[in-house]
Amino acid sequence: MQQLEIKNLSAAIGGNPIIRELNLSVAAGEVHAIMGPNGSGKSTLAKVIAGHPDYEVGGGEVLMDGENILELEPDERARKGIFMAFQYPSEVPGVTIANFLRAAVQARLPEGEELEATEYYARLYEKMDQLEIPRAFTSRAVNEGFSGGEKKRCEILQMAMVEPRYAILDETDSGLDIDALKIVANGVNALRSPARGMLLITHYQRLLNYIVPDFVHVMVQGRIVRSGGKDLALELEEKGYDWIREHAAEPAIA
Ligand code: ADP
Ligand code: MG
Repeated sequence: MQQLEIKNLSAAIGGNPIIRELNLSVAAGEVHAIMGPNGSGKSTLAKVIAGHPDYEVGGGEVLMDGENILELEPDERARKGIFMAFQYPSEVPGVTIANFLRAAVQARLPEGEELEATEYYARLYEKMDQLEIPRAFTSRAVNEGFSGGEKKRCEILQMAMVEPRYAILDETDSGLDIDALKIVANGVNALRSPARGMLLITHYQRLLNYIVPDFVHVMVQGRIVRSGGKDLALELEEKGYDWIREHAAEPAIA
C-alpha cells in the first residue's frame, strides 16, 4: 500500500524520551491533522521523520511505501519524496529563492536530467502567483528579513515546486493573519492529490476550517491518544485539551 507508516516509533533528545511508541499511517491521497498541547512532541515527530540529526531514535520504524527510511540521510529521504515545512523556517543568507528552489527541484530529477531554465521559471512564477508571492522575492535571500507570513508562504512554494509524495507541515498556520492563512490553505488544497499524503500539525483548529482533513489525531506526551474524523478538531476547540489529557490513559482508537 502507498502510505507513510509510523510503527512503534520512540525518539529522544538529550536522553529525554519525547516520542513514545507512536503509531500512525498516512495513506497517499489522505490528509491527516495532528493536534495537541504545546510540548507534546508534534515538532519532534516531524523532525524525526525528516531525519533531523539531533534526535535519537530508540525503536520502531518509519516506512515509506514499505521501505524503512530511518536509516537514510535527510537528503535521501527528501529525494524519495518526503517534504517537511518547518515551524520555524531558517534563513539562508546569500542564497536566492530562485536558486534555492532550482537546486531543490534539480536534486530530485533522475540522474543526467537537466532542469530547463525557461520551464523552471514558468512553473516558479505560476506557483508564486498562486501563493501571492511578489516576483521580486525570487532574487531575495531565502527567508532573510521575511515576515512570518512570507516565510510560511515560501515553505508552501517550496512544497509546490518539489511535488513531494508525503508532506509534513508543522504549524504552517502560526503567525499568519486570516488573509495569509487563506492563501496558504488554498496553496495546500491545490496540492492535495490521490498520489500525495499530507500530515498537518497544528495547535489550533482554525487552519482546519480551510484545509479539511480526512483524519484528526490528538497527541499528548509523545503518543496519539485519540483519532477521529474532522469533527474531533471541533470538539477539541470547544472542550480544550484538558478533556483529552484526563482521558489520555484510555486506549487510542487506531
Ligand atoms: P510540540 O511541537 O508538540 O510543541 P516539541 O516536539 O517541540 O513539541 O517538544 C516536545 C518536548 O521536547 C518538549 O518538552 C521540548 O522541551 C522538548 N524538546 C524539543 N526539542 C528539544 C531540543 N532541541 N532540546 C531539548 N529538548 C527539546
Ligand atoms: Mg511544535
